[in-house]
Amino acid sequence: MDLNQFIRIVPDFPKPGISFKDITPLLLDPQARDYCLQQLVEPLKDLQATKVVGVESRGFFFGMAIAQELDLGFIPVRKPGKLPYKTASQIYDLEYGTDTIEIHSDAIVPGDRVIMHDDVLATGGTAAAACTLIESLGGEVMACSFLMELSFLDGAAKLQGHKSYSVLRY
Ligand code: AMP
Repeated sequence: MDLNQFIRIVPDFPKPGISFKDITPLLLDPQARDYCLQQLVEPLKDLQATKVVGVESRGFFFGMAIAQELDLGFIPVRKPGKLPYKTASQIYDLEYGTDTIEIHSDAIVPGDRVIMHDDVLATGGTAAAACTLIESLGGEVMACSFLMELSFLDGAAKLQGHKSYSVLRY
């Protein structure tokens, strides 16, 4: 199955020059969605992982599905101010300015083996920040998992040597 057919490329969204990779057609199609999930899970199933982290917001869709498929706990990493309990936060650089992500500080305990998932690996700033959060709580990052990788941005170079898997590449 060619999953590229289920990714809608939207030029100049959310701002000029960005070629947005819209996964909503993939979410709409149960067969393609399940095929994609199997592709995502394949390299992750023998890692003896204990938890999956999904990054807000599009990392929640397949992050949760991966956790369900592998029978693991799921942890949402969210934008600031969204998580109600005690949090750990990480600031990271954007093209212009900075952004912050947060995790519940009791979600990971030392010894946890964690899979980090997001929909798109672009510059790698978000994923690297999520890995730092996981490690700051004593977790070990077993793999970074993405639906898509924008190879020309070389985000994998920011992932501090962690294994990285993507189903599609652009
Ligand atoms: P980065 O930190 O640059 O790797 O950006 C990754 C985050 O931005 C992910 O959470 C993606 O959802 C989002 N993102 C970046 N570029 C795109 C794109 N071209 N299409 C869709 N989402 C993107």
